[in-house]
Amino acid sequence: MSKDPTRSLLVRQGAPFSLKKYDPADTLGWEKEGAKAELEKVKARLDVLQQRLFAEERRSVLLVLQAMDAAGKDGTIRNMLSGLNPAGVRVTGFGVPGGPETQHDYLWRVHAAAPGKGEIGIFNRSHYEDVLVVRVKEFVPKSVWSKRYDHINAFERLLTDEGTTVVKVFLNVSNEKQRERLQERVDDPEKRWKFRAGDLDDRALWPKFQAAYHDAIKRTSTAAAPWYVVPADRNWVRNLAVATILLHHLEAMQPKLPDPDPSVVGCVVE
Ligand code: ADP
Repeated sequence: MSKDPTRSLLVRQGAPFSLKKYDPADTLGWEKEGAKAELEKVKARLDVLQQRLFAEERRSVLLVLQAMDAAGKDGTIRNMLSGLNPAGVRVTGFGVPGGPETQHDYLWRVHAAAPGKGEIGIFNRSHYEDVLVVRVKEFVPKSVWSKRYDHINAFERLLTDEGTTVVKVFLNVSNEKQRERLQERVDDPEKRWKFRAGDLDDRALWPKFQAAYHDAIKRTSTAAAPWYVVPADRNWVRNLAVATILLHHLEAMQPKLPDPDPSVVGCVVE
C-alpha cells in the first residue's frame, strides 16, 4: 500500500476514468482517532513550506475547489486557513458573473484572481463553472462550452509555465449525504442562511452535474494541472486529504529561503 493514500485520488491523464468508481465515504485507510494528530503534523509542515514559498517570492500555488452544494468547500477552506499564514493566502469565490465580468470572456475574472508570486491562491468554485453549471443549465450552446476544455488546458498551462503549481480538487459528496446536509440547513437556524431555494434545482439536476463533472475532470486532468477526487462524506477525511494533497505539491516545489545578505551573516544585534 502506498504510504500517502491520496495518490490513489489522482486522476491520471489518459488513463481510464470513471467518477462512479470513487467512493464518497472512503476513509483511505485512515482512522478517525489518529487523523487529528496527523492533520496537525501536515499543517505544521505546510506552515514551514508556505513561509519558504512566501520568502522565495518566485512561484505560487493555486488550489481549485469544485463541488456540488454541501460537499464542504467552505469547511475545507476554513480548515486550510487554520494551518496557513493568511497574509500569504488569497481566497476567491466565484459566483454568477455580474457587472464588467459579463462584458468579457469567462477566463478574464479568473486570471485576475490568480495568486501572485509567493502566494497560495484558493478558488472557491472557478472557471470550471463555465463547463459545469453553464453546460447543465444550457446558459450557452454546446458549440460554445465544448471548446472551453481546450481553453482551460491552455490557460492552466500558461499558469504552470509561468511558475504556478495548479492543483484541482473535486470534493466528492454522495447524493444521500447531500440530502442530509441540505435538510440540516433547513432545520438548523444557525445553518439556514446557507440554504438557497436554487440548491434544490441544482440537486434535481444531479445526474447532469455528475456527467458534466466527469467530462470536465477527464478532459482537463493533466500532468501539470491534475485533478484529485476527494471523498467528502466525512469531514475529517476530506480535511486531511486536501491538506495532504497540498503538502505533497508544496514538498515537490521545494521552496527555498533566499540567500542571506552576506553583510548580515554573523552580525551582532545590540
Ligand atoms: P456557494 O454555493 O459556492 O457557497 P453561492 O451560494 O454564492 O456560493 O453560489 C454561487 C453560485 O454561482 C453557484 O450556484 C454557481 O453555480 C454559480 N456560478 C459560479 N460561476 C458561474 C458562472 N460562470 N456562470 C453561472 N453561474 C455561476
